[in-house]
Amino acid sequence: MSEGRQDPHVGSISIVRILAAVVAGPGSAPELTEVDLPPLGIDDVRIRVAATGVCHTDIAWAAGEYGDQFPAVLGHETAGVVEEVGRHDSPYAVGDRVVVALTNHCGTCANCERGSPILCDLREDPVARLTGLDGTPIWAAYAVGGFAEAAVVRASSLVRIPGDVPFPVAAVVGCAVACGVGSVWNIAQVCPGSTVVVLGAGAVGAAVVLGCVLAGAERVVVVDPSGPRQQSALAIGATEAVDATDEVAERLSSEPFDYAFECVGKASAMETAVRLTRRGGTVTLMGAANREETFRLNALEFVSSQRRLLASLGGNVQPHVDFPRYFALYRSGRLNLDALVTATAPLDGIAHAFVANARATGLRTVVTMT
Ligand SMILES: [Zn+2]
Ligand SMILES: [Zn+2]
Repeated sequence: MSEGRQDPHVGSISIVRILAAVVAGPGSAPELTEVDLPPLGIDDVRIRVAATGVCHTDIAWAAGEYGDQFPAVLGHETAGVVEEVGRHDSPYAVGDRVVVALTNHCGTCANCERGSPILCDLREDPVARLTGLDGTPIWAAYAVGGFAEAAVVRASSLVRIPGDVPFPVAAVVGCAVACGVGSVWNIAQVCPGSTVVVLGAGAVGAAVVLGCVLAGAERVVVVDPSGPRQQSALAIGATEAVDATDEVAERLSSEPFDYAFECVGKASAMETAVRLTRRGGTVTLMGAANREETFRLNALEFVSSQRRLLASLGGNVQPHVDFPRYFALYRSGRLNLDALVTATAPLDGIAHAFVANARATGLRTVVTMT
């Protein structure tokens, strides 16, 4: 280090007290509570949260399906405004509108350099970054903790939002759109003229539909038990939307698809996705199952079929490459992200939003801060 070089760390040494929706333990409803955010590390940025989507994984985490990391502030599909930066040479400035990607990556490890920042060797997810007023460490889910007035996140995960993109739309880019469109374009690489079946038509499944339509798929069939979600899928370009019954699966398997996307997070759906794909076709699994789920394949049949079985974590996005493309397509009217935000709720209405999400009628409820 050269002599007299300035310490780049300018982040505050002070703790910031905020209101956050804390889930005390498995099965507990989120409750607004005062918590402390830590001082900024050199690579951190504090954002004032503007919008955070309620994702299925928030509900599953709160139910205890992923483990025992409690108390926790959930919420990871987050957009907001930069409030403070950890270093004077940060690419971000106070006041910048940003969306948080789930990569939380270092940028220098082998997986980051391979183009898979979501697999970063130094990714911390989650982190016990918050502190209760009694000194209890509190987990920030997915290293975000977005159901709160503010959040401390790694600067590398932030992407600027164009001025005319509303915060709730930008927020869903962070998870649903990254996972859905990213899986179609980066993982499965759907070809024009192909046929696709999508299992699960929540926000991620709907984003898969949007990605397939833009990729030029000729037939996009959505399978979901929810009538309203079937209607949403048809409205954004699915060519058929059907119930998730054995009879439907039987009918669809008689004309198997080039691609199947599993967005349910259940072993049975993963097995169905394989069954609905033609020999030589491509199966992409992306649903977040609970920790006990395993799925079974007949080994001889699977090998003989020469199917490609792929997994997608967060659509393998490179946020600074992919998110600006999503925003550009949205602004030109070709990627209908408005359709994914079917409801908004205030932060103090989050417990109700969690219950509403479990009814699986809309796509995304986005919690917006005033
Ligand atoms: Zn999510
Ligand atoms: Zn890395």
